[in-house]
Amino acid sequence: MSGEFDLVVAGSGLAGLSAALTGARLGLRTLILTGDVLGGQLLSINQIDGYPGFPDSVAGYDLCPMTQEQAVAAGAEIASTTLDGLAAQDGGWRLAIGEGEVMARGLVVATGAALRILGVPGEERLRGKGVSHCASCDAPLLRGKAVVVIGGGDSACQEALTLAESAATVTILHRGSALTAQAAYRDRVLQQPNIIVRFHHVAEEILGDSGVAGVRIHDTASGQRTEIAAAGIFAYIGLDPATAFLGGAVTLAKDGRIPTDAALRTALTGVAAAGAARAGFAGRAAAAAGEGATAAIAIANYLRHDRWRD
Ligand code: NDP
Repeated sequence: MSGEFDLVVAGSGLAGLSAALTGARLGLRTLILTGDVLGGQLLSINQIDGYPGFPDSVAGYDLCPMTQEQAVAAGAEIASTTLDGLAAQDGGWRLAIGEGEVMARGLVVATGAALRILGVPGEERLRGKGVSHCASCDAPLLRGKAVVVIGGGDSACQEALTLAESAATVTILHRGSALTAQAAYRDRVLQQPNIIVRFHHVAEEILGDSGVAGVRIHDTASGQRTEIAAAGIFAYIGLDPATAFLGGAVTLAKDGRIPTDAALRTALTGVAAAGAARAGFAGRAAAAAGEGATAAIAIANYLRHDRWRD
């Protein structure tokens, strides 16, 4: 693929699709680079709670095509490829994408973040054999069985609640002394009869030969080590931003995310960032959509006034 675009959006989660929708509606020739899969993480979210306009929640796999269709109807084009690198050229950006290149006058980086892995023995070997990152996909396979969820934040609690609908028991292992999830999830988890929360517990090894059979756990308060049986293991211990492709073009924040100003402009002229790849992202689907729109507007203002900073 080749061509010249006013706006290229890297990433096709809610932030990316919203940026493309807004850019196209503003009359910018807009291209979305989808990344490996259109929608990314959004596709594996069974239930997005608290998204305005959907009081009964909405599935990520429904919201993604809806927003994509809206962006395409507004005029955005889509390329199923990743953004692999960027170089300044002629006042814009030459973007390396898969096999080809495109020129962008403005770029929105909305590449999101990937679920962090535990890094314990057994995790890679048993991935897809009981070690999973998609509770809604694998819950039906684990009906009536014992499963373990690791983490104490919104994702761990939300996914534990999803699993508890079909699993016999869900054990949450949390390294801290209190769940950090928003009250709406935390309270439901603590009241759910088949969810057991073990505080001060970490997973040390995932056990099993051809499939997950259990986890070796460490109680960091007592020092005791035991094994518990489980057929499925789900680690939700935070997200790592997908920013490596920037290759030092931008000085990243300590957590690997991209710093921006309040208008979501990065230190690079004509490059804005939105969503989970951005430092300071509020971690809500609604925030991702809002940031995408804000970032596209930053690019539109730049192209109109030929001035990046105020
Ligand atoms: P968070 O970073 O919010 O939470 C990660 C959890 O994992 C914490 O409990 C943390 O413990 C624990 N943890 C981190 N590293 C390790 C480790 N190595 N071993 C064991 N435990 C570990 O990530 P989430 O994925 O929960 O959420 C990401 C973002 O998405 C957040 O902003 C969240 O609010 C948002 N989100 C929003 C939802 C919604 O609004 N409906 C639903 C799901 C997610 P500790 O506290 O000790 O660091």
